[in-house]
Amino acid sequence: MKAIVLFGSPGSGKGTQAKLLTDCLGIPHVSTGEMLREGVRNGRGVTPKTAAKMHAGILVKDEVVDAMVKERLSRPDAAKGFVLDGYPRTLVQAEHLTAWMKERSIREVVIYLAVDYNIIIARLTGRRECPRCGTPYNVLLRPPKVDELCDLDGEKLTRREDDREDVIRARLDAYEQQTRPVLEFLRTNGGRVIEVAASDDPPEIVFQKIGQAMEN
Ligand code: ADP
Repeated sequence: MKAIVLFGSPGSGKGTQAKLLTDCLGIPHVSTGEMLREGVRNGRGVTPKTAAKMHAGILVKDEVVDAMVKERLSRPDAAKGFVLDGYPRTLVQAEHLTAWMKERSIREVVIYLAVDYNIIIARLTGRRECPRCGTPYNVLLRPPKVDELCDLDGEKLTRREDDREDVIRARLDAYEQQTRPVLEFLRTNGGRVIEVAASDDPPEIVFQKIGQAMEN
């Protein structure tokens, strides 16, 4: 059983590392942010109130994500393990998760991606994506050859709805006030916490560091 919790600020690279880990280990990627966005897209399971909170960069209710995660983790494909990305994000969620794990005698490994504040800001404000092929860019750190256009198909790059400056500020505030304390909680109540410096290296190197730390 490989139960992995990816922990870190918005923009720390949790989504990217989660994809690399799940490809490598053959276990599902459980991202509460993705599940919520999917719910908004298909108009199922996400109330207008919840969608408005996401839009503003505020955390949605614990009950909403707790129920979503519980349902997802009980599906058969998660029996061998899972990578949690963006959950738990409050102390209530952390208590919920650790109780769920204890009932099943599962010990999670927490990977904390530590990234400098200034890098976080540049990553979030510069983040773009090609709406056609999904290639990620960063206009500040990894710009396309032609301003705001995809190198591969010339499509105009788009921004995630909540990557606007005021919303980024709200998301970072929520992280500092509600989520950061969760790390201490997991250190004392949960499994092992591995801290990986993830400010300067490209994703593949961060991934290698995670692999090495997990083997030790
Ligand atoms: P981020 O890049 O800010 O980490 P996510 O994609 O993980 O973004 O989440 C997007 C939004 O979905 C959050 O701003 C929040 O509104 C909501 N959300 C995601 N996960 C949670 C959670 N565990 N608890 C509460 N709200 C969440």
